[in-house]
Amino acid sequence: MNFRSLAFRLAVGYALLLSATFALVGTGMYFALGHYVRSGLSDSLRRRSLQVQQILREAPPGVSDAQIADAIATRVAPEFNNRFVRITRAPATLVYRSGRPADHSFASASIAALAGPWPARSSARRVATPDGPVMVSATVTDTRSGRYLVELGASLEPIELVEDRLLGLLGLLLPVLVACAAGGGYLLVQRALRPVEQMSRTAEQISVQSLDARLPVVPTGDALQELSLSLNHMLGRLRDSVHSSRRFLADASHELRTPLTVVKGELQEIVRDAQCPASLRDRVGSTLEEVARLERLVAGLLVLSRLDAGDAQREWVDVQLGELAASTVEQMRLVAEDRGVELDATGLRPLTVRGDRGRLKQVIVNLLDNAIKFTPRGGTVTLRTEQQPRIAVLEVRDTGIGIPPDALPQVFERFFRADAARARDDAEGGAGLGLSIVHAICTAHGAEIDVDSAPGAGSRFRLRFPRPPSLPLAGSTHRSASLSAAPVAETPSAVAPIAPGRPTDGAQ
Ligand code: ADP
Repeated sequence: MNFRSLAFRLAVGYALLLSATFALVGTGMYFALGHYVRSGLSDSLRRRSLQVQQILREAPPGVSDAQIADAIATRVAPEFNNRFVRITRAPATLVYRSGRPADHSFASASIAALAGPWPARSSARRVATPDGPVMVSATVTDTRSGRYLVELGASLEPIELVEDRLLGLLGLLLPVLVACAAGGGYLLVQRALRPVEQMSRTAEQISVQSLDARLPVVPTGDALQELSLSLNHMLGRLRDSVHSSRRFLADASHELRTPLTVVKGELQEIVRDAQCPASLRDRVGSTLEEVARLERLVAGLLVLSRLDAGDAQREWVDVQLGELAASTVEQMRLVAEDRGVELDATGLRPLTVRGDRGRLKQVIVNLLDNAIKFTPRGGTVTLRTEQQPRIAVLEVRDTGIGIPPDALPQVFERFFRADAARARDDAEGGAGLGLSIVHAICTAHGAEIDVDSAPGAGSRFRLRFPRPPSLPLAGSTHRSASLSAAPVAETPSAVAPIAPGRPTDGAQ
């Protein structure tokens, strides 16, 4: 459980508030009930006391104590009514004391006499006896036969028992109620926050590539709905601005191509002119190299802007990646030989992926180009394919100079070059867009690319393509006859290497 979550903190706050409320209500209820039943008992004692006082007032002067006792025993019957009656004549003569009540709830003899002076007004007190507590009311009455203290009592035990039970019940119910309320509150808050979670999940998935996606709008009519609407409007504005900057980049690179071609043509004319002095020819030659670099840069930017616009998904077909790689190797073999680098394509097997053939070829060309460029004479560049159950793997490995560890995380970033001086031929020094184009094409194809490299130990670029849904899984025992008879066998063990020297692909 996350103790810092909003749901948890709200539930704790809610539980504390509820505990305080329940404790207040419980205590109030306990004391109110005690007060109510005690005042009921003391009222009933007062009424009986009036009856006794009346007997005393009606008694003629000189009446004997026995006659008074007789009258009380007959008319009030304290033992039968489970009451205590004691009559004391001033100053301290015990006239009458009732016996043990019928329910045996207390022993009358154990109820201590009123200590101190007699009260001016009728009052009630609690007297503890060995059998249990008793409430005793005391009233002073003046009659013709003298001054009397009339004490009436009843057991408090049933009342205190009810109070104890109530206290026990409250003590038991309070934690249960608080736990239920806190748990319920936690679940309710979590439920209330579900739309927010849904919004954040959708927001997680929104990237520059999917700016058309929108957050779910929760029809709550409150701040949450307003928030989702505002965020959606913001996403709309972001999409418009990203689209317009992509359009600008695409238009700018497109527009730059024509003047560059014209400049290049003009410069080539100057170089070809026989009357051109040698010093000028040299300077124009190096300007031409810069123009060529600029051309590559503009071409790269154009490709990237088209990929950003989702161009790669337009012409998807099943592409025989193994064959495409083999033909590309053959096309680049001359360049490699020129540089004393051997190209090894014996590890290429038939392999099908779904995608844009031209773009996939560009991936292989860029990776091969880098591998050849950064591998010293006598080195080898190896291409290999591998069919795994759910993915198709293409690997380009070289024995070149490798990439420094601190540069590895950035090699797929746009305009990143680990070190321009590392290219063997400066004219070949790229603009740092080759691998970002590879990355963008892979992303568009749902493929993952990673690189393993160490300085001096060569580099390995590994591409993992998702398997086309139209093909059965490798190793499946339910291959259809037509597929198992197809020329492109997909189980690695069953495939022969692709023969070199296949017809070249013209899609470069
Ligand atoms: P560039 O067009 O400059 O080659 P890339 O995006 O293709 O740009 O590559 C970026 C950087 O990654 C290069 O400048 C180079 O330093 C490094 N790099 C790429 N591939 C390799 C490789 N096979 N061996 C060594 N370094 C490489």
